[in-house]
Amino acid sequence: MQNNVSSPQALKLLFVSTPVGGLGTGLGGGVELSLYNIAKEMLRRGHTLQIVAPTGSLWNEFAITQIPGNLQVIAQSQERNDPITMPSNSLLANMWAYARQVQTEYDLIVNFAYDWLPFYLTPFFQTPIAHFVSMGSLSDAIDQIITQVSKSFPHTIGFYTPSQGATFANLTTPCHYLSSGLDLSLYQFCGEPRQQLAWLGRISPEKALEDAVEVAVKTNIPLKIMGKIQDEKYWQKICHDYPHAPIEYLGFLSTDKMQSVVRECQALLMTPRWVEAFGNVAIEALACGVPVISYSRGGPAEIIQDGKTGFLVEPDSVTGLIDAVTKLDTINRQACRQQAETEFSLEALGLRFENWFQMILDSRY
Ligand code: UDP
Repeated sequence: MQNNVSSPQALKLLFVSTPVGGLGTGLGGGVELSLYNIAKEMLRRGHTLQIVAPTGSLWNEFAITQIPGNLQVIAQSQERNDPITMPSNSLLANMWAYARQVQTEYDLIVNFAYDWLPFYLTPFFQTPIAHFVSMGSLSDAIDQIITQVSKSFPHTIGFYTPSQGATFANLTTPCHYLSSGLDLSLYQFCGEPRQQLAWLGRISPEKALEDAVEVAVKTNIPLKIMGKIQDEKYWQKICHDYPHAPIEYLGFLSTDKMQSVVRECQALLMTPRWVEAFGNVAIEALACGVPVISYSRGGPAEIIQDGKTGFLVEPDSVTGLIDAVTKLDTINRQACRQQAETEFSLEALGLRFENWFQMILDSRY
């Protein structure tokens, strides 16, 4: 166990989670792991923390206020110019009504939802709100409200990466890039993999799992698939289109089980069709000593050191992925773990968030 470290000022923090699914269910994607890691590190640094999250959240190591209501529709399933929609008995609205009631007990509220409402509510709150934006630009209405908040409340918008931030074309004010980080002790290094590849993540069209399945078919290297099936029809179509592919779906696994499979793989394949804001799965693989082969766009293109800790290939080129698989023996798996240790530790993540929070608080006075 690590001891608490002393921080410049111990903050009282209220984290408001994503309204698309309970914490620990996988429906929220990478932002769940990010929220978990930031929460853990903030507590270790001596801050106090309360999490507001949907009823049905599964974590028990944090103080979580569980809020009932109907889940919000995921932004990835909407068209760019769709209006903002709210279900009846909206969980998102319920979470923010609760945050409004308790706001004076906290120094800072941190919003992890990629939704219009919390941005809109910012000027109506007395307590400052830090908005951690977890995806690239997907919706005109959300882009507009983010731009508005970034102008009226300097420093309050945080992104994972510059390539994610660049998708928000109208943002002119300075934004903060927080990257990501892991508790590296949870991921074990494996120097000698089996002949198999891994694919990890939400099973949803923007992740283009079918390209990784095609790699498995063409190379005849087994592919282990792990993650939440978010779009059942999409998954069924893949199973139908590739009936004899050497693939195995293992379900949505806990971090411990997931890393025990991933670390024995020759590489992780990342096939994002969209601009991935970060790609937590990339650093999870690196932490196990597993090189990452990805399309060269978005977060993975900022993470992977081409030729050293994996390969960046032409976007949407399955041939490119296959070529990279043939070069995997040129990668030193120790270099992969080393990159995770140097760039993506929990301590470094905590320091970046703490500095960001402090900057928001300082700019208020
Ligand atoms: N994940 C998991 N178990 C699995 C497969 C995936 O816990 O079996 C998690 C993984 O740790 C990562 C998240 O699912 O945090 C996927 O996030 P990523 O940032 O790669 O993409 P996103 O879903 O946010 O688009």
